[in-house]
Amino acid sequence: MSRVYNFSAGPAVLPEEVLREAAEEMMDYKGCGMSVMEMSHRSKVYETIIKEAEADLRELLEIPDNYKVLFLQGGASQQFAMVPMNLFKNRVGDYIITGQWAKKAYQEAKLYGTANAVASSADKTFSYIPDVSDLAISDDADYVYICENNTIYGTKFKNLPNTKGKTLVADLSSCFLSEPVDVSMYGLIFAGAQKNVGPAGVVIAIIREDLITEDVLPGTPTMLRYKIHDEAESLYNTPPAYGIYVCGKVFKWLKKRGGLSAMKEYNEKKAALLYDFLDQSQMFSGTVVKEDRSLMNVPFVTGNDELDALFVKEAKAAGFENLKGHRSVGGMRASIYNAMPMEGVEALVAFMKEFEANNTK
Ligand SMILES: *Cc1c(COP(=O)(O)O)cnc(C)c1O
Repeated sequence: MSRVYNFSAGPAVLPEEVLREAAEEMMDYKGCGMSVMEMSHRSKVYETIIKEAEADLRELLEIPDNYKVLFLQGGASQQFAMVPMNLFKNRVGDYIITGQWAKKAYQEAKLYGTANAVASSADKTFSYIPDVSDLAISDDADYVYICENNTIYGTKFKNLPNTKGKTLVADLSSCFLSEPVDVSMYGLIFAGAQKNVGPAGVVIAIIREDLITEDVLPGTPTMLRYKIHDEAESLYNTPPAYGIYVCGKVFKWLKKRGGLSAMKEYNEKKAALLYDFLDQSQMFSGTVVKEDRSLMNVPFVTGNDELDALFVKEAKAAGFENLKGHRSVGGMRASIYNAMPMEGVEALVAFMKEFEANNTK
């Protein structure tokens, strides 16, 4: 068996320990004689799996009791619709546009009411986070929406927007569980699992209780109502059962690593290795303003498309996978989620140094 260093933005690297455990339990989960993949989601055994996953997540994020945790499907993209369908009362949402994912959410909300772009960093290819300390928030806004970590562009909100009392809704897909979060600052958080916590197919939503109501937009499908999933404790229909099981293992792995404060410290050290190299390199440079840099997604360029392509090709041959930048940005991007070990980033930086030396006249 040989494993590469996988810098994919998602689906992304998972902890080897978790993969090994899942492999060991594949044929016979704890003496059940079957795989978790084959088991009824209504069984006692599975109930323990999903309840433990929720309890561990609550512990990791210190989720207040008045917030519900839902395990849903449809990807983060389905939340782009579920949020307005469930939260629109005045049918107004204020969106901060910091990249493609925020823009997609904004466009989706327009299908159901008024979506206002109250700030945007589109003028500089989303290479920064706009000043969000004093925005013109709409009086009748049902919520203010952000994408907290911009997976494609590599920026992250270091300060949450001043929502002027409105509910904050945030897409945390690519920074979920990378650091502690004060859940009470948000009305609703959602995250697709495949970036930092598990296999694709699971979306985790953390919602303040009072936002879960029957008062949804007319025509909202049953499956897209938070209330239905809340009442059924994420078992209204068959959930992405195996995916939730793997997420649960990742939560236990995070607890063993010391929780989210320890992860944050580790992630900061890991990201600094790469950013410090980029800052002194004559060949490579980061593409976003320093103060808004993401700890999870690090885009960089050489400034020369041919050299970028050569780098990606040689890196791949050396065991560094998925370093090609998003098709809309070009260049390179290293996603260094929780499960990317320090050694992976050290090896990447060493490889970049060597590449720079070999390709500088
Ligand atoms: C990947 C990603 C999405 C889309 O996720 P899907 O599960 O493919 O719908 C949305 N938001 C962010 C921040 C992402 O990184």
